[in-house]
Amino acid sequence: MADKPDYKSTMNLPKTDFPMKASLATREPERLAFWDELDIYKRSLEVNEGGPLWILHDGPPYANGHIHMGTAFNKVFKDLIVKYKTMRGYVSPYVPGWDCHGQPIEHQVERNLGPQAMKTISRADLRTKCREWALEFVKIQADEFKRLGVRGDFDDPYLTLNHAYEAGNVRIFKAMYDRGMIYKGRKPIHWCIRCHTALAEAEIEYSDEVSDSIYVKFEFTDKPAAWAEAQGQVHVVIWTTTPWTLPANVAVTLAPDADYVGVRVGDDVLVMAEKLVEQVAKEAGWTDFEVLPHRVKGSELAGLRYKQPVHDGMTGVIITGDHVELSTGTGAVHTAPGHGEDDYLVGLKFGLPMPMPVRDDGTFDAGGGPFEGLNVWDANPVIVEWLRDKGTLVAAGKISHSYPHCWRCKQPVIFRATEQWFVSMDKAAEGVRPLRESAMDAISKVEWIPGWSVNRISSMVADRPDWCISRQRAWGVPIPVFSCVRCGETVATDETFDAVIKLWEVEGADSWFIRKPSEYLPEGTACPSCGGTDLKPEDDILDVWWESGVSHTSVLDARPELRRPAEMYLEGSDQHRGWFQSGLLTSVGAYDEPPFRSVLTHGFIVDGDGRKMSKSLGNTISPVDVVAKSGADVVRLWACAADYGQDISVSSEILDRTSEAYRRIRNTFRFLLSNLYDWDPAKAVAFDDMVEFDRYAMVTLADLVERVTKAYEEWRFHMVYRHIYDYCVVDLSSFYLDVLKDRLYADGATSLERRSAQTVLAAMLSTMVRLVAPVLTFTSEEIWQSMPDALRGDAMSVQLAGWPTVEVPADADRVRDDYRIVLEVREVVTKALEEARGAGTIGKSQEAKVVISAPESVAKVLLGRPRLADLFITAQAEIVVGSDALKVDVLPAQGSKCPRCWNLRTDVGSDAEHPELCGRCAGVVAAI
Ligand SMILES: [Zn+2]
Ligand SMILES: [Zn+2]
Ligand SMILES: [Zn+2]
Repeated sequence: MADKPDYKSTMNLPKTDFPMKASLATREPERLAFWDELDIYKRSLEVNEGGPLWILHDGPPYANGHIHMGTAFNKVFKDLIVKYKTMRGYVSPYVPGWDCHGQPIEHQVERNLGPQAMKTISRADLRTKCREWALEFVKIQADEFKRLGVRGDFDDPYLTLNHAYEAGNVRIFKAMYDRGMIYKGRKPIHWCIRCHTALAEAEIEYSDEVSDSIYVKFEFTDKPAAWAEAQGQVHVVIWTTTPWTLPANVAVTLAPDADYVGVRVGDDVLVMAEKLVEQVAKEAGWTDFEVLPHRVKGSELAGLRYKQPVHDGMTGVIITGDHVELSTGTGAVHTAPGHGEDDYLVGLKFGLPMPMPVRDDGTFDAGGGPFEGLNVWDANPVIVEWLRDKGTLVAAGKISHSYPHCWRCKQPVIFRATEQWFVSMDKAAEGVRPLRESAMDAISKVEWIPGWSVNRISSMVADRPDWCISRQRAWGVPIPVFSCVRCGETVATDETFDAVIKLWEVEGADSWFIRKPSEYLPEGTACPSCGGTDLKPEDDILDVWWESGVSHTSVLDARPELRRPAEMYLEGSDQHRGWFQSGLLTSVGAYDEPPFRSVLTHGFIVDGDGRKMSKSLGNTISPVDVVAKSGADVVRLWACAADYGQDISVSSEILDRTSEAYRRIRNTFRFLLSNLYDWDPAKAVAFDDMVEFDRYAMVTLADLVERVTKAYEEWRFHMVYRHIYDYCVVDLSSFYLDVLKDRLYADGATSLERRSAQTVLAAMLSTMVRLVAPVLTFTSEEIWQSMPDALRGDAMSVQLAGWPTVEVPADADRVRDDYRIVLEVREVVTKALEEARGAGTIGKSQEAKVVISAPESVAKVLLGRPRLADLFITAQAEIVVGSDALKVDVLPAQGSKCPRCWNLRTDVGSDAEHPELCGRCAGVVAAI
């Protein structure tokens, strides 16, 4: 007797080098090196050469700090789309960009230098330091994005500080200036009297300050109807902590829906919000006062006029506004549009004048009336005494409150309107459509994804005030106009614009601060008003939103591989206020056309409890850390799985779940790979010769491709994830592949049955790896490189492999219908098996025999299936035809266990040569 036969060696057990454990954090860099060597970005464009263009135009992140979960999500999302489009045959160039100018970088550099150095540094030197800072972070972020698997032209990105980019700003400015959309106006900003400079919000420090707190009465020019019969004069009472702003008062704002009453105090009737009467009385120390019976809404007093409190013979107007608070003061707000943000906005709304009598150094000009020449801080007590003398001071005290201070000199700052450049929303040159009108029209021509986002952008553009594009900073692109030194007139013509464009293309915007205008402007350029030739370049720089906005011209128009409009802009929902809008307005302003065909918006990143991520809450997650721990593909799978139409949650639990889902998808691929070690396309089985169950699997695969492709096309990426995950877990792991194991491992290696199964596995592998490639960019490449050479064709990377299509057999519909019934029966059988196992009737399902009594229609389908028991993973399955309802009985299986395939079979011993084996195994072993 020979040794006990080694049946294991006669089995076709799975074999693969593809590791179960992903070790993404350490293995992903190998893929990066592979792509670098391949020059994957260049090849991704070449592979579709001559095909249609599809451009996703990158919105530039700010070149300051490391990337966060929001920027990571956004970039991965873009990469997913670009890779999908490439695989669909489009030429899809992706040029990453960075926003390099702006106040946060300048402020960071200023802080690093310190207040002392800031006093002496030149604007040109400050700009050099800002440039170094920005370029350093461009490099850091580029490395972080690449590590996430993002593919793009990282060797030649667009930077808003590049010369050609800077010149693009002038092209748009010129076009919009010529079309009458740009004008000079005034707007209040934080201003430091000591430093003679404008301050941005980030340069403001709040600390407590003791201020005057005064109540002042303004006499109505005509008595309001409600108090027409009352004795004495009627006044509206205001409260302010900045007496020095009273010379600039032009209006009093009331809450439209609040109740206002007249209070008799001595000879006067004082009008104020009913809710605040007691409080004012206490402040003013009134012992004897009477609230008159009439009560009116703020809106009923609107339009009445009163005597301006400082300037004799002038009047102000009563208006209403939603910013009026009824917790302090009188409910009647002193309004000076040149000295406050709310005042400015309400002033714009009502078309109020905007006097601004304070000079750069904080002293009053003639507009200060009796206080001309005084510094505003010195003027405060003088004004209070002056009001007291005049008899209009109702009460005066002191208040300690939080007040803005200059970060440099620590002195309190003021709000002061200065000359600024604006884009007009509603005014344009003769024959040119106003910006708001053409922008609204352009919005209607763009596809907004998700659909509701059109409402957001529409209402923002419909309601927005004129766009203030001036910033009083150093680090940015100057507003490209000149002023006449002699008379102050603006000098801006096509010739001066063209000269600036030419200069900046070569030397960049830095030249603005170094060269004299006479060096580059055409000879003879002169002031149109006085003929003066001494011209001064504008000091203000452009709003950074303008700068990034003109990328449609500085990037899409300028680079040969791109074009305007782009197919898509894709950013977070905050960009309806930011880049989407600045891109739209500058494009419509210059060309009457939107810069994009579609705009996709995604939600904000929040933590597991839906809270915004912030350092102070301590709930931030760094994508760099996640990549180092779990790998970039887990970040990418998380991004794909999120429903981006709402806020996107991330937490370590969510990432753990994502890792688990990743593991299941990976293991499915591993199973496919491990059963194809002896397969090549020459061994494929034709549809008609396939085992029917395999034809069914091909139908499900074709259906998967259709579902997943549809989800990609409809930008429903979370459904891409859902379909693929469900297919791996439900269709494959718990059914098809589970059933297939016996046939794959125990049938003859080269049998039709096994080759039929392998034909399906090969199709699944080469199809699914491409379906997941845009998302799991690293893993799909790892799979691709592990696939049998013949399956890969000539695509060196899965990214170049194109999109899969799966042919379906002619009888697909019949197969689908039959298997729907089989699956329904299987569900009942599985339940019955579970119950039997619970009751101890059987052990494993492989040790059971099921007797299925079924109506004729169902039984017919079951009887047509060869190896029916395999479908239920049982030893035997018997069909009884003709019962009214489906019924399943579970019995212990008959026969004995085959030592090769471990199945219980009734034909064990039927073969004389191998009496211990089942018939199938005996045949296989005999053939070896
Ligand atoms: Zn200061
Ligand atoms: Zn002039
Ligand atoms: Zn066997």
